[in-house]
Amino acid sequence: MSRYTGPACKLCRRESTKLFLKGTRCLTEKCSVDKRAYAPGDHGQATARRRKVSEYAKQLREKQKVKRIYGVSEKQSHNTLENVRKLPGVTGTNLLVALEIRLDNVVHRMGFAASRKAARQLVRHRHIEVNGRTVNVPSFSVRPSDEVRLREKSRDLVAVRASLEGLARVAPVPWMTVDTEKAVGKITEMPTRDTIPIAAQEQLIVELYSK
Ligand code: SF4
Repeated sequence: MSRYTGPACKLCRRESTKLFLKGTRCLTEKCSVDKRAYAPGDHGQATARRRKVSEYAKQLREKQKVKRIYGVSEKQSHNTLENVRKLPGVTGTNLLVALEIRLDNVVHRMGFAASRKAARQLVRHRHIEVNGRTVNVPSFSVRPSDEVRLREKSRDLVAVRASLEGLARVAPVPWMTVDTEKAVGKITEMPTRDTIPIAAQEQLIVELYSK
């Protein structure tokens, strides 16, 4: 299935919550969820008034929400869950950790790109190095002690400069250190559920995929 290219705010309204899909721009722009807190479309307001929500609908919405936050396809989301099922620990938490350590998410969290979508483009266009080697795979998983660097000639890109300047407005991420001057970040430890600032009930996603 092709990637969604429509308005980002529409996805937030569909999930009735702020997904911050435009990254730091969401902190400065007027938010559609504040203006119209119901799903888009002709029946959006009627759906919001409907009281009873089935268990399946809750699980589905939770899965869609997490997919949209990280910008992954259905297949990627399903495959990620299948991979983490084999790992020790809580499967739902492992799923979020696996999504969190994707290179596109890390580039965004380090402040090199204003959103995950912009970060994915930086990675695809070969602007990012991991441990001194160019990596152009957005789903690449980083590990503790990995060094993620913006290539020297990419540091003057207008979008990158704007993102780094907006970094002051974003809370620091505890599992990485970032040197904005040199545009380099280091992974200090694996993220834990407490350090992943995503309001999701990941267990519902595991239940959905277990059906
Ligand atoms: Fe979502 Fe950001 Fe748009 Fe608000 S401004 S609806 S958080 S993408």
